[in-house]
Amino acid sequence: MIQIDKKLQREEKVEVLRERIQELNFHYYVKDDPTVSDAAYDKLFNELRKIEEEYPQLITADSPTQRVGAQPIEGFTQVSHRIPMLSLGNVFNDEELVEFDRRVRDRLESERVVEYACEPKIDGVAVSLLYIDGKLSLASTRGDGSVGENVTENVRTIDSIPLHLRGQGYPHQLEVRGEIFMSKQGFAQLNQRALAQSEKVFVNPRNAAAGSLRQLDPRITAKRPLDIFCYSVGYVDGELPVTQSGILSQLQEWGLKINPEIKVTIGPEECAAYCSDILNRRETLDYEIDGVVYKVNQLVLQQKLGFVSRAPRWATAHKFPAQEETTRLLEVEFQVGRTGAITPVAR
Ligand code: NAD
Repeated sequence: MIQIDKKLQREEKVEVLRERIQELNFHYYVKDDPTVSDAAYDKLFNELRKIEEEYPQLITADSPTQRVGAQPIEGFTQVSHRIPMLSLGNVFNDEELVEFDRRVRDRLESERVVEYACEPKIDGVAVSLLYIDGKLSLASTRGDGSVGENVTENVRTIDSIPLHLRGQGYPHQLEVRGEIFMSKQGFAQLNQRALAQSEKVFVNPRNAAAGSLRQLDPRITAKRPLDIFCYSVGYVDGELPVTQSGILSQLQEWGLKINPEIKVTIGPEECAAYCSDILNRRETLDYEIDGVVYKVNQLVLQQKLGFVSRAPRWATAHKFPAQEETTRLLEVEFQVGRTGAITPVAR
């Protein structure tokens, strides 16, 4: 009897978590208006993931742990991704990073130390840019990973995205993937303008970037300070370098913008050192990052490792400790200064 109760409780808990996460996904991905902090979201998500790991029979195909993002919104035409646009697994500390590296080497059945391409994890919106014969032909959002929104006209207004590739030797079809973001400075200015005009302000630069990119009127997008860092390729019908770091250098030669902090490291200790270096300099960067990403650098090894449901096995995000947390506002006190100035103070 007690056994059955426990099982029911667990199933109910899983249901409640799924419903809550789906609701939060809707606000975050569809409305570009998150209702809780990422840290609060991650807590719920990891709770669900842990239960499913322990009781795999509870996993359903539509569980948020098995899918990426959310359905594309109406108003944009839909684009099917030839190669799915996935999410990333997470580690939250150095021990989990060592475990990640262990899993990689176990799967490769190799004791050899692995080379990783380390990159900042840009807190923006994932996009796919298709270049045909060097010309920007299609730009889409990640959407639910399989189907995204056609945002070509909006993307064409972003100055750092080339409409034509530079140089030569690029494949006939080259799908570049990257993260569109808003600089911290651009975000502050945008919100100042919004405040002055009594318009709605954005919660954070990610959400401002997403809201600006997904405007039905490209003239609005054109006025927003959007930028990009490209970090990988999708569908390609030609030859490219055989490492992640080599591909990024090649993309740069063709005129695509890549992040200046990318570094190749050997083994998890160097990855951890890279992570703490970037974390120490986080405030000095003019764009928001929520962690760093480690990717097995050799593409042959990436292919051997493959994918799980929503993420590659050859990469993981090392998430930084939360900067933003949601909390309950108990009361607002109005303190009167010596000069009579009133300062509201939140408790
Ligand atoms: P994610 O943002 O944790 O990681 C995957 C994404 O990272 C990729 O799709 C890509 O867009 C991006 N990325 C940035 N730099 C990259 C790089 N150098 N290389 C590769 N990818 C890079 O995963 P997700 O599935 O996009 O979103 C999940 C996260 O979103 C949650 O962990 C949470 O933080 C946040 N979220 C928050 C809420 C909320 O209500 N606050 C709701 C849903 C999701």
